[in-house]
Amino acid sequence: MPTDITNTSDELFEIFVNAQTFKTILHSFDDLCQSIRIDRKIIGYGKRSLYKVLTSKLTSWKSKSLWTKIDKRGSQKEYENGNACADMKVCIVGAGPVGLRLAIECALLGARCIVVEKRDRFSRHNVLHLWPYIITDLRNLGAKVFYGKFATGQIEHISIRQLQCILLKIALVLGVEIYSNVTFIDVIEPISTQQAWRAHFKPEAHPIVSTYEFSVLIGADGRRNSLQGFQHKEFRGKLAIGITCNFINHHTREEQNFEEISGVAKIYNPQFFSELQQQTSIDLENIVYYKNDTHYFVMTAKKQSLLDKGVILQDYPDAARLLARDNVNSTQLCKFACEAAQFATKCSTQFAFEFAEDHHGAADVQMFDFTSLFHAVNASRIIERNGKQILMLLVGDSLLESFWPTGSGIGLGFFGLFDTAWSILKFAKHEHPLKVLVERESIYMLLSQSTPENTKNNHQLYSINPATRYQNSNSKSCTIDEIRYLYDSDSIPTIDMNNNHVISNKSNRTPTRRTQSFKQAPSPLSLSSSSSDGNNQQETVFEWCEEIVNSYNINIKNNSKSFQNCLAFCAIVHYYRPDLINFKSLQPDRPISNFQILFDIMHNQLSLPLDRKLQNSLILSMKSSIEERIRQSSIVILQLLY
Ligand code: FAD
Repeated sequence: MPTDITNTSDELFEIFVNAQTFKTILHSFDDLCQSIRIDRKIIGYGKRSLYKVLTSKLTSWKSKSLWTKIDKRGSQKEYENGNACADMKVCIVGAGPVGLRLAIECALLGARCIVVEKRDRFSRHNVLHLWPYIITDLRNLGAKVFYGKFATGQIEHISIRQLQCILLKIALVLGVEIYSNVTFIDVIEPISTQQAWRAHFKPEAHPIVSTYEFSVLIGADGRRNSLQGFQHKEFRGKLAIGITCNFINHHTREEQNFEEISGVAKIYNPQFFSELQQQTSIDLENIVYYKNDTHYFVMTAKKQSLLDKGVILQDYPDAARLLARDNVNSTQLCKFACEAAQFATKCSTQFAFEFAEDHHGAADVQMFDFTSLFHAVNASRIIERNGKQILMLLVGDSLLESFWPTGSGIGLGFFGLFDTAWSILKFAKHEHPLKVLVERESIYMLLSQSTPENTKNNHQLYSINPATRYQNSNSKSCTIDEIRYLYDSDSIPTIDMNNNHVISNKSNRTPTRRTQSFKQAPSPLSLSSSSSDGNNQQETVFEWCEEIVNSYNINIKNNSKSFQNCLAFCAIVHYYRPDLINFKSLQPDRPISNFQILFDIMHNQLSLPLDRKLQNSLILSMKSSIEERIRQSSIVILQLLY
């Protein structure tokens, strides 16, 4: 009976809208889908298929106001009405704000998208400052339908937990599949042309994710990035100790009168900080106070003050040791946080701040070390095995950790995820992997410098296209040579180096890069020199080498002398891994030192150990120019590098 179904469904929709925990959101959405008899196997995945059914069946004013918003966003031309990535399957690791927001973009593009999250709760009360464009973005997605207080008046912040709830609901209605209590472990490469990319998860025997095949893998798993093959650079600054704390908001009249502090720093308001120090002996650099579901404070404290107040027990020069759990008195830390909160809110002496609970049921107060922040060296990789490519991308804190007390965490996180969605679109359009990587890495270079002030100000025009957001987006500021090592393929692409264009495959010997983090695909070349076609194989290796070293102005011409100073080998390493070797610093007249550098890299970085006897023999033969021995040793090195 359609009328009954409609009524029941609208009520269930209301329950879904009001659900406030990870579990109840997922359950109420399941109930809703069951009530309108949605069977994913019948309606299919991707192409916004579930969303289309929901919009046709749910017609309450609230649901309609949500559909109007999502339809408007979904009509942006990049999405091609949900067909742009219709054949794409995406796996996102992590249901933090950035992972969930990216899942929404994938669904709008029409991809099938699964998100795995190792936790089963959204418990972070900490509050995110929202850049204006994020407020516009979330409003346009219907955030207010789910959270009426969103960005009311001057409010420019939201708790991480609340933001996750909103994004989870939008992702679900757009057909994203979300699995809690599932931990991503590692990717599994296809070992035959019949297979596709999959992953190991915990629990291993999960009915859906353990068999899910995908071609895009996103690391949205926060600062402890678990996707292999990405390097991170550490940025060390001067010691900065951040403290966050959350207190229960009882919404009493007195609490309503507390005034928020959207950010005050010592240099701008010295009086506030000197009074704080006089009255409490607390010495801070800055403090922020937001009134949300909790009273949330974030402050940067001076080390000496923490030592004086007995929060930190012993002084150590190393920040990690200084803030190690056994060097912090948690009772004193709670006292410190309460005193700072009382001063900042000017509350009466009767008022007692009561801590909210964290994920573990303990007082929600944390101390962070901002002395070192990590940025990924690159944002993307493409790996190809047995004809199947996988695009791997990092987003959010996995990509770039920012000094979030200034509010840049989520601001940069959303920018980065839109850029990522753009790369997924290009990949879906079968652009050559190297072109996809060049564009992604070029845009990534802009990210860390972006601020609300230096990005475009018409936020309504923002889309996944970087040109709508960055003032000067240049999609080719990286060269193919710089990013070539990010494409790890057992196939045979060929690039016109001068024009950065992909040209037809010339031969069957285009270089392939191998990474130690992935199992090696069977090499087209047998390493056994005793095989009947051993000479042919050696020629193939020399041709491959020649093709690479030509671009370094090294001429090998099958001549052992050309290997004597080691530059040819080093060029090969540099060609695939410019991050491992400073090629320009090598000197042709210092062969021994060059060989030592090469051996170290092969052994320590590439796990390609060269027999010690062979190393000695090579060095000896070089000294005495024994050509045949040099030639034999060279072929062994080349085969290892191949
Ligand atoms: P996260 O929010 O960290 O989400 C990553 C998700 O991935 C998590 O839910 C995690 O459980 C999941 N995950 C991790 N590994 C796996 C795996 N192997 N398999 C499956 N799932 C996995 N910013 C502010 O502006 N103000 C604050 O007060 C503030 N406090 C913070 C407190 C903490 C403890 C942390 C870590 C960050 C804080 N930040 C704060 C930064 C802010 O939370 C992030 O910038 C923002 O949440 C964007 O994060 P994200 O989605 O990239 O990652």
